[in-house]
Amino acid sequence: SLEGNHMRFSLLFFAPLTALAALASCSTDNPSESASAGELNLYSSRHYDTDVALYNNFTEATGIKINLIEAGADELIERIKSEGEASLADLLITVDAGRLWRAEQAGIFQPIDSTVLNERLPAHMRHPDGLWVGLSKRARVIVYNAEAGLPEPLSDYSDLANPAHKGKVCIRSSSNIYNISLMAGVVSRMGEAMAEEWAAGVVANFARTPQSNDTGQIRAVASGECQIAIANTYYLARLAASDEPADQAVASAVNIVFPGQESNGTHVNISGAGLVSTSPNPENAVKFLEYLSSDAAQLLFANGNNEYPAVPGIAASSVVVGLGEFKEDMLNASELGINQAAAIMVFDRAGWK
Ligand code: FE
Repeated sequence: SLEGNHMRFSLLFFAPLTALAALASCSTDNPSESASAGELNLYSSRHYDTDVALYNNFTEATGIKINLIEAGADELIERIKSEGEASLADLLITVDAGRLWRAEQAGIFQPIDSTVLNERLPAHMRHPDGLWVGLSKRARVIVYNAEAGLPEPLSDYSDLANPAHKGKVCIRSSSNIYNISLMAGVVSRMGEAMAEEWAAGVVANFARTPQSNDTGQIRAVASGECQIAIANTYYLARLAASDEPADQAVASAVNIVFPGQESNGTHVNISGAGLVSTSPNPENAVKFLEYLSSDAAQLLFANGNNEYPAVPGIAASSVVVGLGEFKEDMLNASELGINQAAAIMVFDRAGWK
């Protein structure tokens, strides 16, 4: 999410350096302890309280100490790249297959070899060569104004381009990674030419020039400025679970459609992790990923951001379950990376700002 970028940016320059410095002196002071279980250096663009609980549980169970560096995904990728062979990073944790693709393209991942992960995580949540794994997922759904009712037809992404919805559709900018990955999925499913035709139809239906974030789209639908919008499920769940009555009112003022139930299913994206190619502690890193695939850890990891667990058969939080059941698009998440460049060109040609 973009909301925490400023906070994470400052953490990049202050917290990590002191944390690693403290760690270095710690392990020098007590070499026997660090040699027995060792440590794990996590570079994460996530920043949830439940993640801290996960790290503590893992350390308690294994004795492996976790050192955390938090920053935006692109900053972390750049940092690992520029640190080169000297990088202390073991794992990069981030959201969106498009960002994992960027990391992959930067050459900072190596294959993960784990029977546990191969058995626990569905194939479409794993990179075909094991360069990263998806640990939780989010769906990109259609939101409409509840009071105005369902504007028809509106059962699939393709309907967003229907002339019946002229002047009704709000969506954020095409430079946003969630939209790039959504379009990458459309390109995978329909091909570039049809994707462009679709994009042009959506642009023709815009209620306003793309602006704001996913939460902004939901608020605009609730207020009636737009009849229809697109947003990730966890933003809806976050509003619904908020302590603020104003947020709850926004959540109550909108309904959602899980697109594509009669076709390929709803576009899903992942939060995931990749093993850094220069990882100093690769065994600990894989151990941690395997731990994250356990039932208990899956719940904490997914709930931290109101997401769906990646491991099948584990229920999401009640507020997320309350959004409804749906069929998801089983496209391998790596396809969303492969088609990033094509997606950006489609947006450009269609005039989607
Ligand atoms: Fe987000």
